[in-house]
Amino acid sequence: MSHSAHEATKHTAKLRALPSVDRVLAEPALAELLGRLSRGEVTEAVRDAISNARGALISDRSAATDPGELARLAAQSLLPLLEPSLRPVINATGVVIHTNLGRAPVSEAAERAMARTASGYSNLEYDLESGSRGSRAGHLESLLCAVSGAQAGVAVNNNAAALYFALNAFCAGREVIVSRGQAVEIGGGFRIPDVLRQSGARLVEVGTTNRTRAQDYADAVSQDTAAILRVHSSNFRIVGFTEEPALAELRGVANEAGALLIDDLGSGCLLDTRRFGLSYEPRPQDSAAAGADLVLFSGDKLLGGPQAGLIVGRSESIDQLRRHPLMRALRLDKAAIAGLAATLRHYVIGEAVEAVPVWRMIAADIDELDARARGWRDALGAGEIEDAESPIGGGSLPAETRPTRVLGLAHPHPSEITRLLREHDPPVIARVEHGRLLLDPRTVLPGEDGQVIEALRDVIGAAP
Ligand SMILES: *Cc1c(COP(=O)(O)O)cnc(C)c1O
Repeated sequence: MSHSAHEATKHTAKLRALPSVDRVLAEPALAELLGRLSRGEVTEAVRDAISNARGALISDRSAATDPGELARLAAQSLLPLLEPSLRPVINATGVVIHTNLGRAPVSEAAERAMARTASGYSNLEYDLESGSRGSRAGHLESLLCAVSGAQAGVAVNNNAAALYFALNAFCAGREVIVSRGQAVEIGGGFRIPDVLRQSGARLVEVGTTNRTRAQDYADAVSQDTAAILRVHSSNFRIVGFTEEPALAELRGVANEAGALLIDDLGSGCLLDTRRFGLSYEPRPQDSAAAGADLVLFSGDKLLGGPQAGLIVGRSESIDQLRRHPLMRALRLDKAAIAGLAATLRHYVIGEAVEAVPVWRMIAADIDELDARARGWRDALGAGEIEDAESPIGGGSLPAETRPTRVLGLAHPHPSEITRLLREHDPPVIARVEHGRLLLDPRTVLPGEDGQVIEALRDVIGAAP
């Protein structure tokens, strides 16, 4: 027998072992799924599983031919249809604003407001007094003014949208002056020069990466200048020989040029961060007071609310945005409006540090963190209490950390432990430092301690 004929026979024998679609469909493993999904959907998954096995056998790889195993593979491939892909995790990394973990958890009041608004009807665009059409933007306006001291305010989908919107509405076809040190990438491929280009504005870079003076801006002014844009370096820091003009100085240059002054602050920090042993993070109220026409910031960074882009500033500019056709494309949904309003109210009432989770975490007392870490260790009967730092993270206060107390676990394969913790239900996300597994109580929400202990017990028992 020739070599290839022999191969063909071998394949045929193996392929003959594959069961029929009907044979796999009859497996008990699929009975429950057939009750929940259409027969066509399940049949398709079984066909795929058999076809994958056939492909593997033909190319001499091993594959399951057992009907039970093929049914299990088919069932697994259908899981995303039945179980949510997006689900809660426990953040034991200590990174307060963790972009990959959904940034800020909202307050209880915001959570309630969001759930109530999402699951029922509301006066979203209905004036209860007159019984006629009302304004969606009206629900946030006075709160935005109260927290920022600005004349007016409006909210859109996120801060990236806010920046694009401001540039498109006021600067398309004209020039925007930006310091070289601020023509940066904010994260996830969001680059200031690209956003400018997309908006139709032309970037005019001035100064150098580390030093830019007010005169550099003044020298770049032309008849085409539409705006001066300042971008806060929210996710990096240039240290050493640096210089940046104050916003009030740029106000002077913008006035001379007849241009707008736009300030992209990023984090939207409304509190004085020095209270918490952190360096000062510029606040929207500072920018409004310094005379910026438009101040832009995120809803879900240090503001601690749902995803949103907030724009506060002078009435003329905000009014123009409100009437702009893009407003409709970028507007916030009702649940986010409800959550944002509830969050802003915490600041207006003066209860943000107690009510807004990101501030509660930042403000957490070291003794309280120590007690929780000890509680975990005692319940587990393993690990050591260690000093560490919790990064604030997520495009807010780069390089800034708060001293914390963590549970440290030594293990020959710490990455194996973090994997098992990720696979736990609910997943627990920890960090590894110097080959040790660290769990930081700062970002573990009240009420999650028991679940952390349970996860650690399961995982340490299961780890090799
Ligand atoms: C985070 C950030 C943005 C983007 O904000 P999103 O709300 O994520 O869209 C824009 N500019 C600055 C300076 C930022 O820090």
